[in-house]
Amino acid sequence: MSNIYENIKPFIELVEKSNNIVLAGHISPDGDAISSCFAFCSALRKMNKNPIVLLEDYGNSYEYIKNDNMIYREDYNNIKDVDLFISLDCGDIKRLGFAKEIFEKAKYTVNIDHHISNDNFGKLNIVNPKASSTSEIMFEIINHMGKLDLNIATYIYTGIVFDTGGFKHNCTTNRTHQIAGELISLGVDSVKIHSNVLTLHSLESSKLLARSIQNIYIENDIIVSTLSNDEIVSLGCSHKNTGNIIQYLLDTKGINVSVFIYEKEDGSIKVSFRSKTIDVNKIASYFGGGGHILAAGATLKDMTIQQAKEVVLQKIRSV
Ligand code: AMP
Ligand code: MN
Ligand code: MN
Repeated sequence: MSNIYENIKPFIELVEKSNNIVLAGHISPDGDAISSCFAFCSALRKMNKNPIVLLEDYGNSYEYIKNDNMIYREDYNNIKDVDLFISLDCGDIKRLGFAKEIFEKAKYTVNIDHHISNDNFGKLNIVNPKASSTSEIMFEIINHMGKLDLNIATYIYTGIVFDTGGFKHNCTTNRTHQIAGELISLGVDSVKIHSNVLTLHSLESSKLLARSIQNIYIENDIIVSTLSNDEIVSLGCSHKNTGNIIQYLLDTKGINVSVFIYEKEDGSIKVSFRSKTIDVNKIASYFGGGGHILAAGATLKDMTIQQAKEVVLQKIRSV
């Protein structure tokens, strides 16, 4: 492949001839998944297409870009005759959750993503692990289509700020900054977006951060913390309030790997990994998950939090 983006042209041709288009991001949607969906949905509406967005409920940090009239909240069984399904920010088909059924019924499928673990599950794949975010890839596509505007730019900037941690993570490149500059030229309110995405937080997330700090376990340069579903519920919180914990753990002096483990309502165990040097995508992939080299995740089933902590620690010790 001469150019990572050589599939953009065939993709745009595909979009032009499709009408019923479904967009979906990954389960427990984050700033990048949400923003990529909204950005492309807006571009499609400008083309008089008929797009719908499938996204699970997400936390209220994204109120300022919330767009209820894009999200489909009815029975997924009613979605029929999908010409084109576009998966955004999903490393593999399982990450689509319920939307996977619609993906499998669609006439044509496209997978747009930046995870190194991506297994090219679409009929057409635009996957660039060097892109900071799926939102950055959306910029390249929507810019090529000539459909950028302030609204779309606000979504894209939000996704980039989220996935780069405010241009701090090592996925941030020269191109990421160029794009950010172009988005600001379009009038994006970067101060408001940084605040909403990165610093503004609810009292609930502070309570969970405090509890997770009480639960810290350190072994050499590895830090682990856990939250059981009972702890989350008894503090009047939800697992959606845990997003800021994993980076806080990694920022501890002397730490190289952080692991945050929490129990979901259904008893499954969600594990997040962050690292300064070691490949945590490999570790997450070992547990059936994936992600990026320095940021990855997995969901474990049929074990307690304590067991999950033990197996994860064993795996990290062995690398
Ligand atoms: P998280 O710790 O869940 O925020 O995830 C860190 C990164 O890994 C994000 O880019 C996620 O999209 C990705 N990721 C998390 N869980 C999985 C999984 N089960 N499979 C593939 N990628 C994942
Ligand atoms: Mn994501
Ligand atoms: Mn992403």
